[in-house]
Parts: sequence; structure tokens; C-alpha cells
Amino acid sequence: MANRLPRCESCGLTYRTEPRSGERQKYCTRPECVLRRKRRRQREWAAERCVSDPGFAAAARERCAAANRRRRAAERARAGPELSPVFLAEVVTGLLSQLADTNDPVQLRQTMAAYGDRGRRLALELRMAPNAP
Ligand SMILES: [Zn+2]
Repeated sequence: MANRLPRCESCGLTYRTEPRSGERQKYCTRPECVLRRKRRRQREWAAERCVSDPGFAAAARERCAAANRRRRAAERARAGPELSPVFLAEVVTGLLSQLADTNDPVQLRQTMAAYGDRGRRLALELRMAPNAP
């Protein structure tokens, strides 16, 4: 074969050039390669415009910051309520209140102290166990 087919800069596969593009064509016409070329051109165009137009650069920064705020808010919404130490203490207190079947703060505090003592004893015994982690 006299003329070797060019290789796509994106996927590396050979392709037949469009007759009107000739030597300038660097990418094949597979949809993912066309999309990758388009995104690269848009990135390069925006980068050049950011250098030459301060107003465009400021608007792009604000647009990116707004997108980051929206993305973080969506992540927080997906993650559900935050598992802060305060929230976890409230959950444990509610659970112990349910287990002890009481709403009396004094009785609940005594129950919590008893559970705390029991937990400390068990933790010590677990650490002394022969195959403790
Ligand atoms: Zn390609």
C-alpha cells in the first residue's frame, strides 16, 4: 500500500480522511472521537478567551463556583443528615431512653452511667483476650 492511512489522535485507529479536510484532519469520525475533539476545541477556545477577556474570565469563574456550589449541595442532599458527634449522642440518648423505657432524666443518666461502666469493663476484657486485634 503506497499511502498509509492516518491514525486518529484520540483512539489511535486508522481512518479515511474526508476529501475536503485532507491533511488537516486529525481525528476519525467515531462519535466519541468527535465529542472528544469538540470538547478539546471548546476548552482551548475558553482558555484563550479567558486570557484576552477579563470579563469573560470573571464570568467563567463565577459560573464554575456556582456549579461547584450546586454539586456540593447535591452531594450533601444525597448523603443525608450529617453524622456529627452531637447528632450521634442524641441518637444514643434516644435509643437508651427507648431501651430503658424511661423519659426521666435522672433515671436515664443512671442507666447511661451503668452502660458506660459495662462498656469500659467489656472493652478491657476484649483487649486482654488472647486473639484481640
Ligand atoms: Zn478516533
